[in-house]
Amino acid sequence: MKLSDHFAKNQPSMSFEVFPPKTDSSIETVTHATEAMALLHPAFMSVTYGAGGGTSKYTLDIARHIEQDYGVPTIAHLTCVSSTHETVRQRIQELKDAGIENVMALRGDLTPEQIGADRSDWHYRHAVELVRELKASSDFCIGGACYPECHPESRNQEEDILFLKEKVDAGCSFLTTQMFFDNQLLYNFLYKIREAGITVPVVAGIMPITNAKQIYRAIKLSGSFIPQRLKTLADKFGNDPFAMKQAGIAYAIEQIVDLYANGVNNIHVYSMNKPEVAQQIQSSVSEILKK
Ligand code: FAD
Repeated sequence: MKLSDHFAKNQPSMSFEVFPPKTDSSIETVTHATEAMALLHPAFMSVTYGAGGGTSKYTLDIARHIEQDYGVPTIAHLTCVSSTHETVRQRIQELKDAGIENVMALRGDLTPEQIGADRSDWHYRHAVELVRELKASSDFCIGGACYPECHPESRNQEEDILFLKEKVDAGCSFLTTQMFFDNQLLYNFLYKIREAGITVPVVAGIMPITNAKQIYRAIKLSGSFIPQRLKTLADKFGNDPFAMKQAGIAYAIEQIVDLYANGVNNIHVYSMNKPEVAQQIQSSVSEILKK
């Protein structure tokens, strides 16, 4: 199923992200977690693509497994920045052969060596180039990433939104946001992108903080703003893993309920391969999801 058909319904929905294993030895654990999440019947599931493409085989296998054996629509992620045209074309062909209909077109993070390097001989510099290639090669429903707090490499939000518009115009049918912990940041961002003429559905990415270390990782990776309320939870419960998990899930649920109440219908939970976290969040809003 193409995700554009799902978004056209414009009803409250919840979807989950899974990430593939880094090594063969953990494939079984990831498969079990993935299957448990699929059994919750989310609107769809996304399967990430390991930095540099190291886990590309697993991305495809997991996406195909969820869709074909569990009937849950999937979206396979694909990155381009560390790849050649030949590799990307091969991946696209594999996606087509596997019957994957939805692809998240991403640039991928730069390694420390790549930041500031001469990019003139790179095959891909930005996700927009991958979007164009996917669009030209098949009838994929294509998603793109967006950043309510601005991409860390961008000079300012105006410029980031201009490039986002270029990416959407190239063929993105929807956007999924980077994690954020203050809904006001998303509401301001949505206002600005709509003003800029970006009209595609925006899926809100929510990361439940289930251990205190995750907060520092979130700041480091994406520069996310951490509201004092969340910092207070981590200070108070950070040393008690069970209490921290409960508090983090409660924080995410509160964020999600507020988003639904304000008309943000598509929530994507970065569930970190933890089916119990996905289940608790989903069951806490089950009546809202029936609307
Ligand atoms: P782009 O859209 O290319 O943007 C990157 C930067 O370049 C921005 O600052 C943008 O403003 C700027 N830019 C864009 N176009 C131009 C242009 N034409 N000229 C000049 N500047 C330009 N990473 C993975 O490795 N695997 C994954 O599976 C994965 N999934 C993700 C899912 C989501 C929802 C999100 C939000 C991120 C994900 N990432 C993943 C991380 C992502 O690869 C990084 O955030 C990366 O740094 C940027 O990717 P992008 O596709 O947004 O890049």
